[in-house]
Amino acid sequence: MTTTSKETAVLQNYINGIWVDSKGSDVLDVINPATNECLAKVPISTREDVEDAVEAAKAAFQTWKNTPVPKRARIMYSYHHLLTEHHEELAKLIVKENGKAYKEAYGEVQRGLECVEFAASTPTLIMGETLSNIAEDIDSSMYRYPLGVVGGITPFNFPMMVPLWMFPLAVACGNTFVLKPSERTPLLANRLVELFTQAGAPDGIVNVIHGAHDVVNGLLDHVDVKAISFVGSQPVAKYVYERSAAMGKRVQALSGAKNHHVVMPDCDIEKAAQHILTSAFGSAGQRCMACSAVVVVGDNDKFIEELKVKADAMSIGNGMDEEVLLTPVIRESHREKVLGYINQGVVEGASLIRDGRKEMEERTEGNFLGPTIFDHVTPEMTIAKEEIFAPVLSLLRAKDLDEALQHIEKSRFGNGATIYTKDARAVRQFREEADAGMIGVNVGVPATMAFFPFSGWKDSFYGDLHVNGKDGLNFFTRKKMITSRFDF
Ligand code: NAD
Repeated sequence: MTTTSKETAVLQNYINGIWVDSKGSDVLDVINPATNECLAKVPISTREDVEDAVEAAKAAFQTWKNTPVPKRARIMYSYHHLLTEHHEELAKLIVKENGKAYKEAYGEVQRGLECVEFAASTPTLIMGETLSNIAEDIDSSMYRYPLGVVGGITPFNFPMMVPLWMFPLAVACGNTFVLKPSERTPLLANRLVELFTQAGAPDGIVNVIHGAHDVVNGLLDHVDVKAISFVGSQPVAKYVYERSAAMGKRVQALSGAKNHHVVMPDCDIEKAAQHILTSAFGSAGQRCMACSAVVVVGDNDKFIEELKVKADAMSIGNGMDEEVLLTPVIRESHREKVLGYINQGVVEGASLIRDGRKEMEERTEGNFLGPTIFDHVTPEMTIAKEEIFAPVLSLLRAKDLDEALQHIEKSRFGNGATIYTKDARAVRQFREEADAGMIGVNVGVPATMAFFPFSGWKDSFYGDLHVNGKDGLNFFTRKKMITSRFDF
């Protein structure tokens, strides 16, 4: 049950350096998933609010685009300093509104800091290219320019890292930004922008509008929004991509996932089971790089037994408790959906070898679900095909690596895939043939760092240029080519 209080504050939007009330009258509760305590109310803003934010961002762009690049970068240094100073506070806020374990939240802040570090190197990154003598007495050069106003729409599962994938680099490249954070984790977005202002960001450079569909559609349809960076679930990512592209916008839409981990017979069983456990059940399985399907090659009952023993030993509870490994899912409504998948798995004939509903029933508050493992899952089953986004793991079987690779190929998603083995030939075959964009070799969460692109494939990504790395830089800039003749 959700506890609310009449006095719970309604969050404000941030437009042109000022905190303002939304023009909408609807609000939603922001809930701590471990306790169901209402932390705040988030406004469901309107298209008028979006108008105001885009207008502010558009006006700010006129000055910001001409602000010297080193000066823009210096703000990133100050921001980095402030975020570091507030590392623990930010991590605690993540735990409160998202529910993940403190250690994971602390790590998320670190991932965010790396994005700011990357953005701080913009003066180097943004350099153009020149080639003299492309023809007699003719030289050519390329300069990079910002696009204008960029819209960012983010999910609940990384309330710090995902906004920081977007606005520091966008802004360092000379763009201005309107952020629409997840309505389920809006507190951190406000804190991030507060600290950004404290770091010296001028008014209007980054604006925050809280809300849901109307705010998203307002950004997608706005002629003055030149690019959209989106991260969220697959159906919404596809919708955002299509609607933005129809408006002629540049768009990157990062989407859902189903990440396969292949356990080869020669691997270190204990280590593989530990990595898989952390990947599948850490953050309650609510990570786009979480392991959600294991392909067991050969008869490896020892591995399955080890995984079950480790799952049984997991401590479950509030992420603020240091011992806790398994935390709640984001909302009761999400848990209901997950329970539907568990029923579906049983109905379709998978063997439920560990039933996490037991731990759920033992608790009276919080959206907890114990580690749940299905064995003998086939690629055709619903639980193998769809993203469940919870501590529910499917084990598929394969006779050899070729068959394991076929299972991966059948998946519509292609964010990540990992192999556990000591065999160099198997590693090479996996690297070459696995049909996914981020590959792990004995790594449970092969998420890339800020200087590489976050490189999902297939239905895990819509667009051309990924977030982060050189892709990110190319996404947030446009090129101008100059051809000059000198024999005049
Ligand atoms: P979500 O799709 O429900 O919401 C994402 C954003 O879209 C939110 O800001 C939300 O307000 C907005 N939104 C939701 N429905 C909408 C609609 N119908 N029209 C317009 N806007 C809408 O996603 P979520 O549950 O917050 O986040 C989890 C999802 O994000 C998972 O599917 C996960 O795999 C994915 N994700 C992917 C990556 C990646 O790198 N590929 C990273 C993080 C999360």
